[in-house]
Amino acid sequence: MSSIQSIDKLFVANTYNRFPVEIISGKGSVVKDVDGKEYIDMGSGIGVTSFGIADDEWTAAAVTQLTKLQHMSNLYYTEPCSLLAKMLCEKTGMKKVFFGNSGAEANECAIKAARKYAADKKGADYSTIITLENSFHGRTLTTLAATGQEHYHELFQPLTPGFLHTPANDIESLKRLALENKTAAIMIECIQGEGGVVPLEEDFVKSVFEFAQQEDIILIVDEVQTGNGRTGSLYSYMNYGISPDIVTTAKGLGGGLPIGAALLNEKVEAVLGFGDHGSTFGGNPVSCAGALSILKRIDDKFLSDVKEKSKYIFETLSDAKGIESVTGAGLMVGIKTAAPAGDVVKKCMDRGVLCLTAKDKVRLLPALNIPFDLLRKAIEIIKEICVEEEK
Ligand code: PLP
Repeated sequence: MSSIQSIDKLFVANTYNRFPVEIISGKGSVVKDVDGKEYIDMGSGIGVTSFGIADDEWTAAAVTQLTKLQHMSNLYYTEPCSLLAKMLCEKTGMKKVFFGNSGAEANECAIKAARKYAADKKGADYSTIITLENSFHGRTLTTLAATGQEHYHELFQPLTPGFLHTPANDIESLKRLALENKTAAIMIECIQGEGGVVPLEEDFVKSVFEFAQQEDIILIVDEVQTGNGRTGSLYSYMNYGISPDIVTTAKGLGGGLPIGAALLNEKVEAVLGFGDHGSTFGGNPVSCAGALSILKRIDDKFLSDVKEKSKYIFETLSDAKGIESVTGAGLMVGIKTAAPAGDVVKKCMDRGVLCLTAKDKVRLLPALNIPFDLLRKAIEIIKEICVEEEK
């Protein structure tokens, strides 16, 4: 064990079961460990480094801002924050943006805005938030309550009250639950990422949208993992032709710096007033400058490249030996392998490819601009390992 690994084990809280690998640097979709071994990065820091490691344009944007103004309180205006909010609204049609620093914080804001909207409009008892079984919305006590997976809840009772879970793709159950309770919001991920890269059925998503509109229930779409080009559209809800009331995003938006955002439509844009919500670091100028450099490059041409790479992955892996199914969209891919996913990921690492898992699947979230030759190399290695492991 290297000295850094020993120090980490002694002093860093024991919440991560790390691989015995210390990554020290990288460029694009290749990262290097302390022993000089190189890996193709098919995880991008769990969907964060959208344009890879140390992308030139992103680095220049962040460093330039860093040397001008690294932080200012939200008592004052700063250019990157204002311009990023403008770009997010222009690209989505949403009206206002609240900035935090993570996915969980973006969801906290969405939940507060939805509850305040319902309280103002229908009464304070309209506070129920309905989410889906197998969902994941974060690790704070409130976003854990939103997360529809019991095993995350067990150790941390009592969680924030007012959250109910209903099966995905069962519109009648959702409607019943929403009408039997005084419901403020419905929150969904169009593709359940941590739940195993499981896309929701199109009809279900459309019906949830129509029902929420009809009942004046706020629809929150959690795009923390699916957002910013990841699924081949700027945001995954765009694949379903719906328009949510609140969209939350984080991870890939910052390209590697902490940022989270809740995008609010005309219904909820004015719900939170002065002092109702805030964050010391929210809208940080360096994070926002980095995010601007990411977001401005996610255009139609770029998204069609993402789709092209996605097509290649799905076509190459779908009928391969040792692979039972391939799910997801764009460059968010879940592979159900015949062998245990953890074993496949370990073998991939030995052969120089970093992959993730999600539940019982191997999960791929490469940088969106991963060059085709590297992608091909990584997918061939994954495919070979799936065949070998099946035997
Ligand atoms: N929502 C979804 C869909 C996520 O996938 C995640 C993280 O994996 C979160 C929320 C929480 O984001 P963060 O870890 O930035 O708080």
